[in-house]
Amino acid sequence: MQIESKLPHVGTTIFTVMSGLATQCGAINLSQGFPNFNPDDRLQKLVYDHMQRGHNQYSPMPGILPLRERIAAKMEDLYGRPLNPETEITITAGGTQAIFCVIAAFVHPGDEVILIEPCYDSYRPSVETVGGKAVPYALTAPDYKIDWTEVGRLITPKTRMLCINTPNNPTGTLLREADMLALEKLLHNTNILVMSDEVYEHLIYDGEQHASALRYPALYERSLCIYSFGKTYHNTGWKTGYCIAPPELSKEFRKVHQFNVFSANHPMQAAFADFMEDKEAYLDLPRFYQRKRDVFQKAMENTRFKAITCLGTYFQLYDYSAISDEPDLDFCKRLTTEFGVAAIPVSSFFSDRRDDKVVRFCFAKSEDVLKQAGQLLERV
Ligand code: GLN
Repeated sequence: MQIESKLPHVGTTIFTVMSGLATQCGAINLSQGFPNFNPDDRLQKLVYDHMQRGHNQYSPMPGILPLRERIAAKMEDLYGRPLNPETEITITAGGTQAIFCVIAAFVHPGDEVILIEPCYDSYRPSVETVGGKAVPYALTAPDYKIDWTEVGRLITPKTRMLCINTPNNPTGTLLREADMLALEKLLHNTNILVMSDEVYEHLIYDGEQHASALRYPALYERSLCIYSFGKTYHNTGWKTGYCIAPPELSKEFRKVHQFNVFSANHPMQAAFADFMEDKEAYLDLPRFYQRKRDVFQKAMENTRFKAITCLGTYFQLYDYSAISDEPDLDFCKRLTTEFGVAAIPVSSFFSDRRDDKVVRFCFAKSEDVLKQAGQLLERV
């Protein structure tokens, strides 16, 4: 039988590869992004309580209303945008599923999607699965700054969507108000949609503010914004997130979502709805993760790795050009097998696999693990 692959250049994701190697070698896993600590006990107990109360069957397709109402209130509080929970918020099976549905709902075969790279590795294959064409705009280390005039040059009559991500995985950079206004202006009078990946909205440091697309009315009109409970409540394995978009866009999004997963985890949704009453749990996240960032940076001070500024996410980039000129994937594998710490090669986030000799470490770990990783990396 002959199979014509839709994704001939895609193998297994780098997160699966590196986490697998870390497990195999018993290495400290700072590769795939996930916390090594548990979600709040109270939240876990709420899930169990809701299971006991019988919330074990399908939730409504767009998610349970009490959770959507809580989200609407939170977003209005934080970003000043009133939202209709009935028509603008859809609960998803995590951020990645939401991203896929955004792309599948709007990108027609032959449509172009502008990706600002380095970017999360699911964007491009999602575009290609539905027959779209990814048009990458590659940023340069170490500041990864976007030149919106350059981005504008990539727009053609076929451009259907542009993907942004702030705080940015993997770079740890942020989009600022000036970026959002430049983007708003660039897209004015076009039919181009924005996929705004904001899953790290609360992981933001040094007193910076999150420039959500929700804050910019003309931008929001054309945006589908993605969020993740996994990042906010330390439970990436619960696979729950949401998509916020104006009613017309949400309607199209739901057409695809309903046939992709139908609905997300029911007991988790009920538990999140209760737990969201406590605003401290997310308002405290900048302090909580900034401390981890600082502990990790300090633990790395005696190594030959050079830190790249991190203002958001739970990822810290390091330039290793002073240590080795081997390709970043080989270097990451060697870090894992020979030195006992796994990282992600940043070339995986570029379509052309460009190698700037930069690796990504995840610092969503307990302090002892971060310190131990720093010690192991001193030997490199
Ligand atoms: N978003 C996480 C990361 O970048 C992991 C997602 C995944 O494993 N697919 O590490």
